[in-house]
Amino acid sequence: MKAPKTHAIYNPEYECMSRDAMTALQTERLRQVVRHEYDHVPIYRARMDAKGVRPEDIRTLDDLRHLPFTEKTDLRDQFPFGLFAVPKKDIVRIQGSSGTTGKPIVAGYTQHDVDVWAEMAARALTAAGCTAEDIVQVSYGYGLFTGGLGLHQGASLIGAMTVPMSSGNTQRQIMMLKELGATMLCCTPSYAIYIGETAREMGLDPHTDLKLKAGCFGAEPWTEEMRMRLEQLLDFDACDIYGLTEIAGPGVSFECLEKNGMHVNEDHVIPEIIDPVTEEPLPYGSSGELVFTTITKQGMPMLRYRTHDICRLDASPCACGRTTVRMGRITGRTDDMLIIRGVNVFPSQIESVLVSVKGAAPHYLLVVDREHSTDSLEVQVEIDESGFSDTVADLEHIRNEIKDKIKSVVGISAKITLVNPHTIPRSEGKAKRVIDKRKLV
Ligand code: ADP
Ligand code: ZN
Repeated sequence: MKAPKTHAIYNPEYECMSRDAMTALQTERLRQVVRHEYDHVPIYRARMDAKGVRPEDIRTLDDLRHLPFTEKTDLRDQFPFGLFAVPKKDIVRIQGSSGTTGKPIVAGYTQHDVDVWAEMAARALTAAGCTAEDIVQVSYGYGLFTGGLGLHQGASLIGAMTVPMSSGNTQRQIMMLKELGATMLCCTPSYAIYIGETAREMGLDPHTDLKLKAGCFGAEPWTEEMRMRLEQLLDFDACDIYGLTEIAGPGVSFECLEKNGMHVNEDHVIPEIIDPVTEEPLPYGSSGELVFTTITKQGMPMLRYRTHDICRLDASPCACGRTTVRMGRITGRTDDMLIIRGVNVFPSQIESVLVSVKGAAPHYLLVVDREHSTDSLEVQVEIDESGFSDTVADLEHIRNEIKDKIKSVVGISAKITLVNPHTIPRSEGKAKRVIDKRKLV
């Protein structure tokens, strides 16, 4: 049941700051963090020395461009404690990446860092309509992955009734949603779809049997089409939320109920967009790689961390009243981009096609292979049991529609394989959408 749209703001002093005040705050905090990194983290000192940049050279936000980048490989090379900027005794929490790309990495947080992160998540939940009256079921995994504890801390700070389900055991998740009357759900969007479908298979009608009004979904790329499916399935508002272990977990940025991009918590992080090849900063509005500098973290601050996530930044006003810059949807990670017969393909492009075709379910797998030295793409997609009658003509129609749309949107021809409902593995965390067999040989 969708609740009336609210524009409640957790911390208006910062979330609605004037641009001049925000710039002044960011500049001051940036200067402090650069000095702190230079004095306490040997690799930052060495890199700044190598570039001939001294902490006192950083005077304005424009000077950011003179600072060295930080890469995920730096976290691996410095594993586990080499990037800590405070004594180990001051670190109260270790979180780890979910390991989507290679060996896991860890990040250390002081109590101050945990508190800042909790507030970022509280801001996100508030923007999705959460108050102390709500019951929030957190179905992100807990553990080293940041999703579970991130939303948990945010919901607790608001004073909501927090249900730390973690992911897995889907029928039990649904039983708890129903029995406790949860009003908000937080998990990956792919898991939310799975929960919604399972609830319907269990004979529940989300309109009458569940009390969900909204949720915060992130940790993996998803599309507008997927949002529409999810909102229909569970009859609520699905807001996007973004985060990454290296910067802070979920809550680095988040959507308000306007659902027009994710407000960045700019009093804590400075976002930039760069050209991933030339590494030059790009103006707002350009699509490119997102880079973050943390300006309030103590345990493991990051200077110009390259996320490899592709998106654009938008500084236009938002009806909610927040003045912070917004990130558009992540259209892909540079690590995820497939090059198929010379064409750059992001799984999200294919997802928007599939999810918009009537009769196709939002469960798919892209299988890339090389046959006779030519790349091939097979798109396996489940047919939807409810939406159509599965006559041969219907199936042929769906197949052709998908094939034509992929050809026109992505520019390559793919083999479309329609598979039976429930044959593509479901995900309880981040969905695995691609099998690239070329990398296996
Ligand atoms: P990893 O997935 O690299 O092991 P994390 O668990 O820290 O590491 O996840 C961070 C990554 O998850 C981000 O860099 C981004 O690629 C992805 N991500 C997080 N939130 C979103 C979102 N809302 N939309 C798209 N991608 C997201
Ligand atoms: Zn807004």
